[in-house]
Amino acid sequence: MIGTADPLIQRMSAYDPALDADRLKHAFEFGKAAHDGQVRASGEPYFTHCVAVANILIDMRLDEESVITALLHDTVEDCDVTLQALDDEFGGDVAQLVDGVTKLSRIAIQSSPSSAQAENFRKLLLAMSEDVRVLLVKLADRTHNMRTLSFIRKPEKQLRIARETMDIYAPLAERIGLTQIQTELEDSAFEILNGEMRQSIMTRLQFLASEAEILIPTIAVELQSILEVVDIECSVTGRLKSPYSIWRKMQSKAITMDQLADIMAFRVLVPNIEDCYRALGQLHQNYPTVMGRFKDYISTPKRNGYRSLHTGVLGPQNNRIEVQIRTPEMHEFAENGVAAHWNYKHVQAGANVPKFKWIQELVGLLDEEAGADEFLEHTKMDLYHDQVFCFTPRGDLIGLPKGATAVDFAYAVHTQIGETCVGVRINGKTRQLATELENGDQIEILTAHDAKPRAEWENFVQTGRAKSAIRRYLRAQRVTEFSRIGKTLIEKTFREHDRPFRSRALASAVAAFGVSRVEEIFALVGEDRLSPLRVLEKLHPDVNIDQDAQEARKRNGSRAPQLKIRGDNTGTAVTIARCCHPLPGESIVGIFTTGKGVTVHKVGCATLSKFTDAPELWMDVSWETDRPRMVSAKLVTVLSNEPGSLASLATVISQQGGNISNLYLVDRNPDFFQFDLELEVKDVEHMRAIIAVLQANKYVESVKRADSD
Ligand code: MN
Repeated sequence: MIGTADPLIQRMSAYDPALDADRLKHAFEFGKAAHDGQVRASGEPYFTHCVAVANILIDMRLDEESVITALLHDTVEDCDVTLQALDDEFGGDVAQLVDGVTKLSRIAIQSSPSSAQAENFRKLLLAMSEDVRVLLVKLADRTHNMRTLSFIRKPEKQLRIARETMDIYAPLAERIGLTQIQTELEDSAFEILNGEMRQSIMTRLQFLASEAEILIPTIAVELQSILEVVDIECSVTGRLKSPYSIWRKMQSKAITMDQLADIMAFRVLVPNIEDCYRALGQLHQNYPTVMGRFKDYISTPKRNGYRSLHTGVLGPQNNRIEVQIRTPEMHEFAENGVAAHWNYKHVQAGANVPKFKWIQELVGLLDEEAGADEFLEHTKMDLYHDQVFCFTPRGDLIGLPKGATAVDFAYAVHTQIGETCVGVRINGKTRQLATELENGDQIEILTAHDAKPRAEWENFVQTGRAKSAIRRYLRAQRVTEFSRIGKTLIEKTFREHDRPFRSRALASAVAAFGVSRVEEIFALVGEDRLSPLRVLEKLHPDVNIDQDAQEARKRNGSRAPQLKIRGDNTGTAVTIARCCHPLPGESIVGIFTTGKGVTVHKVGCATLSKFTDAPELWMDVSWETDRPRMVSAKLVTVLSNEPGSLASLATVISQQGGNISNLYLVDRNPDFFQFDLELEVKDVEHMRAIIAVLQANKYVESVKRADSD
């Protein structure tokens, strides 16, 4: 039986005198016509569901737009009604709200998501409910569907809906403070998911309740009279707790059914906050308290805005009872969340209150981190506005920061997927990898086994995970380049000292350099962290480097002039390379360029990799000036924040003959210290040796020259 709009209009105008009854009636007739001929699983006309949802919203005393949305919420999905038609008939607000509910209904939630996945789903639903009323209508819709769940014949469908309700919708209701809806959703889902357990709790409850039934009114009367002794005006009500809340307590406190003692809860309503605390004091003076049960949610409200005092006492006739003490306003809020908050404020402050101010407040409550004033738009729920949630082909939900691209998604699934991705299909359409993702997108990443990360990805990826993986890959690429440079330098050095260079000989000496492969020695030399002369010395301890070098210069004098930075007598132009700015004392290499003369690079400069195929262009150059005796150098050092780390740093430096002249603590967090370290060292090579030893130290996270690039 569908009936007419009259009962809805009657109930609603009781709290909303400004209700446009004709508009509500029109929505009723419109929805009824749209669903004409459709039937629910119960056999009833489909539209009875829409009316029921509207009634649930009226219980929450919601506004006209919400109730109209409830009447029309399934018309776009299940009938052939367009959003444009809703816009024409009922205006943009209703059309948008129905659109929002339709989108939420289309999100396919996995049958049993992990708890992290469930949280992602909840966030997705919140993120998609740009207007909080969308969420309220959806929760009311789910509530009625749970009430009629027994008519669904397939047990697996019942289970899926119940699990979804328990994992997603009940926690959402809790988060926005809809305690009544939350309790109902939980208990109805509990009945499907764990019917036997619920049944045994019910049986036990009934047994205990046979006494309690008589007890509840008696206890309530006694509590009331105890409070009236000290002139506290109050009303006391009692009830049995719900099976699901008892089960949850049994689980979290690991108690058995036999230990189940406190099944009764009492509520004391008093006129104001002061009386709340007075009532609490009076109860505590008269009854022994149960340890660990006192909670002051008035001074520290719950995240969803809930306020109340809770305590547990061994009350009248030695019954363990739970007591909640609150004002009527707190109570309304506790039952209906911010919807009730709004009503209360509305009544209190009259027409001056912007109609949807409560929504802003709700948004503030919903968001765990940000305050309400960050969201000043009216009914916009800009929640999780800094995140997007997208689906994998398997239906897993992945949460990413707003602005994240397909490449971020690929890396979030797996580094391997990120490194080999070549394309993406979003909602079935081929798109570019740089495409920004949107909430609810279905993402399919295309990979090729020989694909490689590309340097330009670094420009658009948003997540740290993708960024660091791409950088790691590019760095590994650079090591390959450095090792080519290093090999060239080593070969050149060996040539100058008339020693044959054989990789195999070097391979037997890798351990002496603290590495495991010859390529790593090459890379150390190429990056200027190891002098090629040390390699020569290692393989040919007999070589007198200084003497040999002089002879070599003499011999080579005619073919390749020994270039010096200052006082060069051959007339060749010498330029200091702009890319690396070598400093006096640093290892340098000259590259001969026809028409330009010689450009001097720091050993380790990446530009040198361009010349590894042309060894004939490499010139030996050196600084003419003597090295200064002691020079000052600055190191930026990051140490792990552990006992002994700084002492270890100082020990290492002095063992190497360095001298710490100054030490500044620049930054400190629970994990790391950052120090600027001023050192006196003999020369650049000495400093490098110190850096190398520091890098090997277990406390040192990173160390580098303060002025190096
Ligand atoms: Mn529905």
